[in-house]
Amino acid sequence: MTEALFQDDAYLAECSARIVHCDQRGIELDRTVFYAASGGQAGDSGALVLPDGSEIRIADTRKGEAPGQLLHIRDASFASEGALPAAGTPVRAAIDWPRRYRMMRLHTCMHLLCAVVPAAVSGGGITPERAHLDFDIDMERLRKDEIEAKLNALIAAGHPVVPRWISDEELAARPELVRTMSVKPPLGSGRVRLLDIAGVDLQPCGGTHVRNSGEIGPVAVTRIRNEGRRNKRVIVAFASERA
Ligand SMILES: [Zn+2]
Repeated sequence: MTEALFQDDAYLAECSARIVHCDQRGIELDRTVFYAASGGQAGDSGALVLPDGSEIRIADTRKGEAPGQLLHIRDASFASEGALPAAGTPVRAAIDWPRRYRMMRLHTCMHLLCAVVPAAVSGGGITPERAHLDFDIDMERLRKDEIEAKLNALIAAGHPVVPRWISDEELAARPELVRTMSVKPPLGSGRVRLLDIAGVDLQPCGGTHVRNSGEIGPVAVTRIRNEGRRNKRVIVAFASERA
């Protein structure tokens, strides 16, 4: 089980850690700041810096087969270089922070989008460049300009964004909290992480977020697309980069 430091502090860009296991599938650490791809958010990239100063480039982070296991995936173009480090080796684990921070901003924006569109969420994805949610809703009810204006108003209002934990039982008693049909909240560990944007959105989420909606900055709804009967996709990007 990897201690997932990003769950309590998404702003940690690096940490010290030790290698627990290392093979061709990936590198497991005792603790990490690397977010493993899940819930639609892409995994982190970055580097593991060894005691001699050399770096192992990490292209992606994924969940392993064991519960709570996170695997740092080596960049294939560097993977053949050097021997794999031994278990117990200390490393400095550093994520590509600018890339992650963009995903934190867009991910938090997806929570605002949930609040703006009154429908069940049937899918989603977050990359550093853009993010989307799919809604089970009629196309006619999705108006691009209206959604964009509402999102930017919520962003400009500077709402605090606060993670907190509740028990599995508390969540089971409040099924209305689960907005996403495609991603089940991670039950089984006894507690579930909730993301609370007071008065705006409250739902289980294990992703990384900014502390205040104002950090997202102006966004644009770049497209609304029909992806199937129950999937009407709303795609959002940073307004300054609107193509
Ligand atoms: Zn989230």
